[in-house]
Amino acid sequence: MTRGGTGDETGDGARILGLSRKLAALHATGVGLLFAVVITTTLWISAEQNRLARSASEELVSSGIASLQNRLATLVRDYSIWDDAYDAVLTNDRGWIYRNIGNAVTDIGTLDLIEFVYPAGGAPFGWRTGSPHEGETGIMPAELLNRLLRELDQDDPDRGASRATFAEYDGDPWIFSLATVRPVDGVPADMRVEDLPRQIHGYRLTKHRLDEVGRELLIPDLRIERGATAPPGLAAIAIRDGAGAVIAHIVWTPPSPGASVLRKIAPPLGLALLLVAGVGMLSARSAVRAAERLEQALRDAKAADRSKSEFLSNVSHELRTPMNGILGVAQLLRTTELDAEQSELLEILFTSANTQMALISDLLDLSRIESGNRALSDEPFEPALILRDVTEMIRVAAEKKGLGFTADFDAVQGLVLRGDGRAFRQILTNLLGNAVKFTDAGRVALRAAVAGKGEGRRVTIEVEDTGRGIPRAALGRIFERFYQVDGSSTRAAEGTGLGLAISQALARMMGGGIEVASTVGQGSVFVFSAPFPRVTFADGDLDAA
Ligand code: ADP
Repeated sequence: MTRGGTGDETGDGARILGLSRKLAALHATGVGLLFAVVITTTLWISAEQNRLARSASEELVSSGIASLQNRLATLVRDYSIWDDAYDAVLTNDRGWIYRNIGNAVTDIGTLDLIEFVYPAGGAPFGWRTGSPHEGETGIMPAELLNRLLRELDQDDPDRGASRATFAEYDGDPWIFSLATVRPVDGVPADMRVEDLPRQIHGYRLTKHRLDEVGRELLIPDLRIERGATAPPGLAAIAIRDGAGAVIAHIVWTPPSPGASVLRKIAPPLGLALLLVAGVGMLSARSAVRAAERLEQALRDAKAADRSKSEFLSNVSHELRTPMNGILGVAQLLRTTELDAEQSELLEILFTSANTQMALISDLLDLSRIESGNRALSDEPFEPALILRDVTEMIRVAAEKKGLGFTADFDAVQGLVLRGDGRAFRQILTNLLGNAVKFTDAGRVALRAAVAGKGEGRRVTIEVEDTGRGIPRAALGRIFERFYQVDGSSTRAAEGTGLGLAISQALARMMGGGIEVASTVGQGSVFVFSAPFPRVTFADGDLDAA
């Protein structure tokens, strides 16, 4: 098993690009929904307006026709005739009536029909506009006349004046009203109301008369439609006779303010929506473009970083060879006879060359990891053995500084795991080395713990010191390459600032990590933990450990 590599290089860019595309799609959906909502609402509002306007116009026309009925009823009630006329009507003097009343009625032109009806079985007598025989006997059919007399009498038992009613006559709907004939000074006291003649007045509901009503109501196209049902699509009110049967309908085109509202708001609304859609699309598209550019930049940056690491890896290797030469020669020089000054100079040479060597190997390590060339090995190893080696070495360094040192790794005694023992050692050496390096008084302690059953184990190593600690602001940065809390040049001689970066990278490659907690002036705790498969005796691998 090999673990390594640097993961998906374009992960972030692709995620941002994906998000931007989603944003664009979301925007398109949003604008679509907005369109749908606005259009549905507008249509609903205009339909509702049309419905209200239609029922308002129906009420208006109903009241217009009712006022026409009232006008006729009022007219017949107030229709008092002067004395001569009264006598003539009373005596049924048709010649007189025809000459004097008839002409007057047709001249006034407000009525379409007037007929006098006599109580003692006398034949009715009257006028009708448009008839060739104005001034004639019994102009209305007896059947219709009797029906109206019955109906209107019932409505007006005192025979003062009836309300007006509808009836069909001569191919049209008519409005009729009935009243007793009265002289200007009132009905004489000696006359019984039942003995007096009566007058029936009528309006023919012609187009002309409806136009009069329509003009008042500002509805220009009122007209009559025959038949028991109203034609569809038009506004209508039914005209019923006294028995409640529908004679005809008054119809007109229903007003549709909704349509005019739509016409008015459609252009600005459409423009606004178009603007929203356009601006949104543009910004969504530019977001996608920016994300594409970002992704490309990320890819370029990662490629550049990788080639930098590759370059470093090559250069480090080339640097190491001459350094080995220098160290070898210095080592040889040590075995020769030197005076005190020469010895001192040689030690300086040694220290410098060693420091340089450490830096080169750290650089080489890190560049290998970052360029994806450091693969973790998968060999059986015993953590306890590595811990023993490393702690022995550190104990010497700690004692040199007068620090206490304890190491408790009983928990891993006898445990054999599979993994990269070298990396495990590297991480421990770095953590313990730092603990001793950054602690001037007190102690350094190491504790190991194991968790898990069956195939795998999670090993946790805790390194605690009572050193200078790490400021809170620096905690997040100490794992960065070359970061040092105290970056001064004197301090830099103590290390490279690469140790933790390398350790963390290795720990992550193992599927684990390093965490840190610290208080300035009190000390730090570094905790490294990672999972490892366990080697059982049955594996037969133990020999290799
Ligand atoms: P180096 O030790 O070579 O400087 P590292 O990467 O190992 O580089 O550590 C980075 C920095 O983190 C150190 O320079 C130091 O400032 C801080 N640091 C690491 N370990 C400790 C510790 N145990 N106590 C205090 N500071 C530490």
